[in-house]
Amino acid sequence: MNNKQQLTGYVYSNDLLQYRFSNSHPFNQMRLKLTTELLTELGYLKPSHIIKPRIATDDEIALIHSYDYIQAIRHASHGILSDSEAKKYGLDGDDTQQFRMMHKHSARIVGGALNLVDQVMTNQITNGCHLGGGLHHSLPGRANGFCIYNDVAIAIKYLMKYYNQRVLCIDTDAHHGDGTQWSFYTNDQALIYSIHETGKFLFPGSGHYTERGNEEGFGYTVNMPLEPYTEDESFIETFKATIEPVVASFNPDIIISVHGVDIHYLDPLTHMHCTLDALYQIPYIIKSLADTYTNGKVIMFGGGGYNIWKVVPRAWTHVFLALLGESPLTGNLPEAWIKKWQHYAPITLPNTWQDECEDFQVIPRKDEISEINMKRAQQVRSWFI
Ligand SMILES: [Zn+2]
Repeated sequence: MNNKQQLTGYVYSNDLLQYRFSNSHPFNQMRLKLTTELLTELGYLKPSHIIKPRIATDDEIALIHSYDYIQAIRHASHGILSDSEAKKYGLDGDDTQQFRMMHKHSARIVGGALNLVDQVMTNQITNGCHLGGGLHHSLPGRANGFCIYNDVAIAIKYLMKYYNQRVLCIDTDAHHGDGTQWSFYTNDQALIYSIHETGKFLFPGSGHYTERGNEEGFGYTVNMPLEPYTEDESFIETFKATIEPVVASFNPDIIISVHGVDIHYLDPLTHMHCTLDALYQIPYIIKSLADTYTNGKVIMFGGGGYNIWKVVPRAWTHVFLALLGESPLTGNLPEAWIKKWQHYAPITLPNTWQDECEDFQVIPRKDEISEINMKRAQQVRSWFI
């Protein structure tokens, strides 16, 4: 399909920044504003692209989550959740904390996803992104890993129920997309693929390649775990080697993808060793699969990404550029953007689109890591060819 005939949506409102656990929490939605302003400054993002989120209804959230969990989130919103309930619903630790109005702010992220789905499915746009979403860890009855409502899983179920779609989910966040996996583990109408750092040393611990689904869903969960300190070449080669046969075999109606950008070597929460180069390639690979298999229909979510100054804005800019069909950027970042945000940044902001690489450590086991990853990829690939 000619890219020029495709229309792209971008979910945004300042209200999305209110999904916020505390001032010191690593999940910081300021990264969404930084990205949005960068895209605007570059001239790519225009008011006509913007899709406003809405507050999802309880019945929509209940496509994945239990009503008692939704009720618990409402109680937490008003500070009246008991200690025993907080423990039961995963809201008692430092990771996923309670905050004022958390139901409304979480339901808005879901509503952003559903508005985007509706626009794609009614052919108002071909593709779009919701970088404020991608909360792939939350489970049907439990908050998990900074995630309250799983907007990704809800969007997939909504596509299945209201639009009769067979959905391929491609999750490239450094962490395994456990909440999404378990929501569709026995289902054969959605195929859930996740490429991530092995759970041996990283939250949530799941995502082993032998987790392949159950009952009718057997073969419809695909996990591609990677060794810690995996670098760009190995990530891209194993990603392509596994996702290409998966998409050809499943032949989806639409692709949903999760673009956590925490595989970057400067991300403080993971042990991956990729650069912006891999992060720029990933959305283009997925966009190309959508053009080949789903008539261009793809919805890209955000996800993790905890270096909000040096990594997230530059990486997520390329999610939107890939959807627009524009080429990756080189050269300098816009001066006006740097000038505005340097005032708030605790570090010196980068001024080009490439990594500065001054802190990049050479990994002595690179060849061994790449070999282990490729051996695993060949195993996963063999199930689909
Ligand atoms: Zn992550």
